[in-house]
Amino acid sequence: MQTYDVIIAGGGMVGASLALALDRSGMRIALVEQQALLPGSLSRRGPWQPRVSALTEASVKLFKYLGVWEDMIAQRVCPYTDMVVWDGEGTGEVRFDAKTLPQQNLGYIVENDVVRNALLHKLASSKVQCYGEQSQVDYKLSGQGGDVILESGEPLYAQLLVAADGANSNLRQQSGIPVNQKDYRHHALVTTVETELFHHYTARQVFLDSGPLAFLPLESVDGRHYCSIVWSLLPSEADRIEALNDDEFARELQRVFESRAGEILKVDERFRYPLRQRHARQYHRQGIVLVGDAAHTIHPLAGQGVNLGLMDVAVLTEELIKATGRGDDYFAPHVLDRYQRRRIGHNSLMMTAMSGFQNLFGANDLGIRWMRNTGLKLTNRLPLMKEMIVGHAIGLSNDIPEFIR
Ligand SMILES: Cc1cc2nc3c(=O)[nH]c(=O)nc-3n(C[C@H](O)[C@H](O)[C@H](O)COP(=O)(O)OP(=O)(O)OC[C@H]3O[C@@H](n4cnc5c(N)ncnc54)[C@H](O)[C@@H]3O)c2cc1C
Repeated sequence: MQTYDVIIAGGGMVGASLALALDRSGMRIALVEQQALLPGSLSRRGPWQPRVSALTEASVKLFKYLGVWEDMIAQRVCPYTDMVVWDGEGTGEVRFDAKTLPQQNLGYIVENDVVRNALLHKLASSKVQCYGEQSQVDYKLSGQGGDVILESGEPLYAQLLVAADGANSNLRQQSGIPVNQKDYRHHALVTTVETELFHHYTARQVFLDSGPLAFLPLESVDGRHYCSIVWSLLPSEADRIEALNDDEFARELQRVFESRAGEILKVDERFRYPLRQRHARQYHRQGIVLVGDAAHTIHPLAGQGVNLGLMDVAVLTEELIKATGRGDDYFAPHVLDRYQRRRIGHNSLMMTAMSGFQNLFGANDLGIRWMRNTGLKLTNRLPLMKEMIVGHAIGLSNDIPEFIR
């Protein structure tokens, strides 16, 4: 039987990042993934991948520490320096910019495949043992970590198993960790569009009665301008919009976005994701520890999902390294408690804030509409308040580990 210090189930953005972070600390790591662990090839000229993430400065610091950020930049990354949020049913608008910050940008729009490619390139030159294409893998929990039986029948063992296997985590379910969940009653339509006007490195989001619509800037190619769209809609509205042909969809998008990107010239294939909030009530049990979407899923309206997962990675890494340094067992419950304490409250707060936004902007009540429009206008005039909001949004005012500061 192959024995490791830690086995990570799930080689998505979060699991692969954790594997690299723990590998740097000298631990023996295995990464087990359902799909092939092979990087794809992307051309700078497109086509665009439909799934993108708005990465915060804190996440970028982690990627720099892992030595993968330069690779992402060499593929394609679009910084944004400004962010505009407005009420599509009123006149309230707030604009954030990076001018008051120590760094140049508010964040970066990166295709998920770019992140994954860079992580996989780095894994190939690391000591992490990667087991890809394991769709029939079996987890046998022992009360302190457990065995992982690969498709070939080969058993692996570790005293700490990490569930990085996404929202419907098999490992989380097997461990019996309960989850609080609710349906956001939104489905996200995701695609890439070519726009008439340049975005000026501005991420824009309009709150409509049916849900928020974000235009996220992508790099221009040969003078043509592109944005990634995340349009969250009530399910019935999503049915209607999804049924439109590309021309009708483009016209509808342009109308609700108040032509702020000019004409929508071209629309790529559209994808649809039902949105659900999930939050595990514990982040560990009997040597199983949860990170990323296995621990929490959140509405994409503030682009925080993977950023929260990456901070789980950073904090868990820090706690495991500290424990080893103290001569403690890195898999001991009190060590994993420290990780849980540092993450669960923060993630919970972020979820509450997202639900608050969703309720505030979904309300039809005239009084609430007046309040939110006034609130947006007022916030726009208060530089200190804006600085505080941006500080939280870019993830640097939170509890982030020393090693990536
Ligand atoms: C429409 C939309 C827009 C979003 N936009 C943003 C954004 O702008 N910014 C942001 O921060 N977040 C965003 N998110 C959230 C973000 O995409 C997720 O938080 C992130 O992908 C989670 O990464 P993960 O690695 O935890 O999980 P996943 O990406 O789900 O990866 C899990 C991996 O585990 C593998 N796996 C599954 N089961 C097993 C098993 N039993 N054994 C082994 N492997 C297994 C899967 O194949 C997969 O590779 C968005 C989400 C949506 C739906």
